[in-house]
Amino acid sequence: MSTLSKTPSSGAASTDFNTLSLNPAMQANLQQLGYLQMTPIQAASLPVALLGKDLIAQAKTGSGKTAAFAIPLLANLNARRFAVQALVLCPTRELADQVTTEIRRLARAEENIKVVTLCGGVPLRNQVASLQNGAHIVVGTPGRIMDHLERETLNVDALNTLVLDEADRMLDMGFYNDIATVTKQCPDERQTLLFSATYPEGIAKISQQFMKEPQTITVQAQHEKS
Ligand code: ADP
Ligand code: MG
Repeated sequence: MSTLSKTPSSGAASTDFNTLSLNPAMQANLQQLGYLQMTPIQAASLPVALLGKDLIAQAKTGSGKTAAFAIPLLANLNARRFAVQALVLCPTRELADQVTTEIRRLARAEENIKVVTLCGGVPLRNQVASLQNGAHIVVGTPGRIMDHLERETLNVDALNTLVLDEADRMLDMGFYNDIATVTKQCPDERQTLLFSATYPEGIAKISQQFMKEPQTITVQAQHEKS
């Protein structure tokens, strides 16, 4: 049974990246990227996610959710270990490409971290070659990632972070079963981070089945505030 604890957004959380325990290279990189202050969803979720806890984070599009999962994912990563340690599931190829770009920007301060994107519509053999060259992080759509797991061209035994990005859209698109299949192959000992713009019923089901006592963080849009 998972316990859901609701943490309403409050103005109390510090928005200064310096308050987070990040390595100096990441701090410098954030400054270089012009990330001077955390966005509200980052300020609410990063302190929790950086403790290794499971998280359900809900905030509107454009609120900086990618960095809110990419920073913890990179903190969990050992670049010297040549194995897939993080998997990010996205609803579409376009979103997977955007996430890959953002992770690469955030990872550029670290030593040689390889991110591979796996989406449908691209020949499998090209992707297999990329995977064989070594990947630390895989970003992709559930169906294609499931394909690679079934063919054993992708191994997630060393995974420590699983991200479900735009979970509401993935559920809308009928990816529940694919998400379940992929998630069941991931090690139980892992951090699971779920990001969504809305909170449909299916998300509670995912959290009960696949997450460990997730903390739920909701940042409401300005006009929704009472
Ligand atoms: P979401 O996933 O919530 O739709 P994104 O992660 O795509 O939002 O972020 C939206 C934009 O905001 C991106 O261009 C990203 O580079 C930028 N961004 C994210 N965090 C910060 C920050 N702390 N400071 C400045 N810009 C940021
Ligand atoms: Mg996003």
